[in-house]
Amino acid sequence: MPGKNISKAAPLSPHEVALREELRADVQKLAGEIGERNMWHYAQLNTAADFIEKSFSGAGLHPRRDSYEVRGQPCHNLEAEIPGARPEIHLIGAHYDSVSGSPGANDNGTGVAAMLALARRFAARQPKHTLRFVAFVNEEPPYFLSGEMGSFVYAGRCKAHGDKISAMISLETVGYFSDAPNSQIYPSRVLGAFYPNVGNFIGFVSNVHSRTLLRQVVALFRKHAKIPSEGAALPWFIPGVSWSDQWSFWKNGYPGIMVTDTAPFRYPYYHSAKDTPDKLDYDRFALVVSGMEKVIEALDKL
Ligand SMILES: [Zn+2]
Repeated sequence: MPGKNISKAAPLSPHEVALREELRADVQKLAGEIGERNMWHYAQLNTAADFIEKSFSGAGLHPRRDSYEVRGQPCHNLEAEIPGARPEIHLIGAHYDSVSGSPGANDNGTGVAAMLALARRFAARQPKHTLRFVAFVNEEPPYFLSGEMGSFVYAGRCKAHGDKISAMISLETVGYFSDAPNSQIYPSRVLGAFYPNVGNFIGFVSNVHSRTLLRQVVALFRKHAKIPSEGAALPWFIPGVSWSDQWSFWKNGYPGIMVTDTAPFRYPYYHSAKDTPDKLDYDRFALVVSGMEKVIEALDKL
């Protein structure tokens, strides 16, 4: 679904300026203050979990820990639910661990900051669908696409409980943009021929099975958001398509999409020690999140 290209970020509304500062503060907390957080930096991983839990509570939500063990060490997914009138669940998720050797500002401090900002904005509302906000542990290697991945454990339990998840939205690396020519690359030459070579847009990606959800979300985002977007429903084996927590939900039969700045196909500091908070474009990051707020709102009414 190639879309129109607009250069330069659109001006922010006062609401978006406040959102931008909230996002900046949460990325700073996760990547600037806590820093690298994973099983090799276990205290920091748990400090991040505590911070997310407190953020949910601060929004008036009642977080729950969904825990499991990896080689005897407890790991926690964190969930906050806003019950709706209908049993179908719209789930907004982001992984909070960072890859070994990286403070994880963009990957995935941005996804967590976005998820928390959205949770705060929906906390006092009464949605039709049940809304669930989830922070996942252990997305990065060596757990990546394995049975010990936090979201895989979580999604398996959802299936066992009979949870009716009708939309899973994975927020994965959403804060880097560039107006430079050829700042955007692709995992295949075919995609490169159809999609822009300037990395100034936000991407929506799904497997073929989730294409209806993908089309709905992209259409709603384009109707409401002030930043360009590109969408693609692609076979799961194309590099990048499965590379986050949506994979775990696909594996359990649920439709899921990923929202991403495309990470390794654009971001020069991907999975490096240089993935620090100063690299991000907070204006455009805020436009992505304000757009997603409208998408979740509109999706709830469908
Ligand atoms: Zn990631």
